[in-house]
Amino acid sequence: MDKMYDIAIIGAGPGGIASSVEAVLLGFKDVVVFEKSQNHSDTIRKYFKDNKRVDKDWKGIKVELRGNIHFTDGTKESTLDLFDTLVKNKDIEAYFNEEVYSVEKKDKSIFKITTVKEKSYYAKSIVISIGTMGKPNKPTYKIPPTLKQKANFNISQCTQDEKLLIVGGGDSAVEFAYYMAKQNSVTLAYRKESFSKVNPTNLHYLFDYVEKELIELRLNLDITKLEDNNGQFEVYFSNGKTELFDRIVYALGGSSPTDFLKRCSVLLDENNCPIVDENLRNNQDGIYLAGDIARSNVGGSIALALNHGYTICEHIKNKNTT
Ligand SMILES: Cc1cc2nc3c(=O)[nH]c(=O)nc-3n(C[C@H](O)[C@H](O)[C@H](O)COP(=O)(O)OP(=O)(O)OC[C@H]3O[C@@H](n4cnc5c(N)ncnc54)[C@H](O)[C@@H]3O)c2cc1C
Repeated sequence: MDKMYDIAIIGAGPGGIASSVEAVLLGFKDVVVFEKSQNHSDTIRKYFKDNKRVDKDWKGIKVELRGNIHFTDGTKESTLDLFDTLVKNKDIEAYFNEEVYSVEKKDKSIFKITTVKEKSYYAKSIVISIGTMGKPNKPTYKIPPTLKQKANFNISQCTQDEKLLIVGGGDSAVEFAYYMAKQNSVTLAYRKESFSKVNPTNLHYLFDYVEKELIELRLNLDITKLEDNNGQFEVYFSNGKTELFDRIVYALGGSSPTDFLKRCSVLLDENNCPIVDENLRNNQDGIYLAGDIARSNVGGSIALALNHGYTICEHIKNKNTT
């Protein structure tokens, strides 16, 4: 007989970690986490630059923490340290390098989880906390194949002393720009004429750097074409000008990993965002969404993801006792 887990959690980012910690604290005995990367918090590891400041009330959204995880303002490193400690809880069974492929409802209260390695697991409740970074939005024009390595979607491959073009107009683009500006020549290009989605702290940093001529800002400007010019990008802008850059970093946002959600029969709205109630529950009794994926239309934060974990586990617990 296959083991039956109380709760199976897909993704070991803040939402998944919080769900597992809160579940154990609420007395659930059989809790399992599946993470497709070799370690937890892959988004933070990959997309946050070393020593990045991490704000609890990110993007100015004030969050009252409701659960048992004491998360405060800090850095990438202090945040990863906190999650490291939590993941080491011996009551949580965690499988790394284990990407979940699908979730299927077998009968009234049993879900079958199938991984990419074709292993099967069974659970009574499912928490999907896969984030939204799975598929970064890509530009519509062609990237020269010879320069693919230098067209990036985060700053993990950036070095120093490069002429860098960052494309985008959200918090990630602005943060990438001012982190990289310390060691590179940075231009930030955005197709709109102002930044409406960026939090005030980031805007403050940005304009400070622009004033000090550490970042060159190009607003209201699109890119129409890229060419390889002796190992550099020749960038064609919509104002008719061209310029050479060593590297381009796109921060165009990420779309919800819709295919995965569809394979799990998660009910989606007309924009392919998962539908959840106040307890983060989807239409199938027993499937919950935590973290960014539950807020793929409005954006999330670490603190919000932690609260989701708490809300979900409380709800599962209350459901079981009524
Ligand atoms: C550049 C940048 C800066 C940010 N700065 C801040 C900040 O200062 N403060 C803040 O609060 N927030 C910040 N955020 C947002 C924050 O990172 C997210 O809100 C948070 O990570 C969401 O947590 P999550 O658990 O929902 O998803 P994620 O952190 O994205 O974790 C999802 C996990 O699921 C795994 N996964 C995906 N698919 C599968 C699968 N099929 N099977 C198994 N595992 C899977 C992934 O590998 C990943 O580890 C920032 C984001 C970015 C990109």
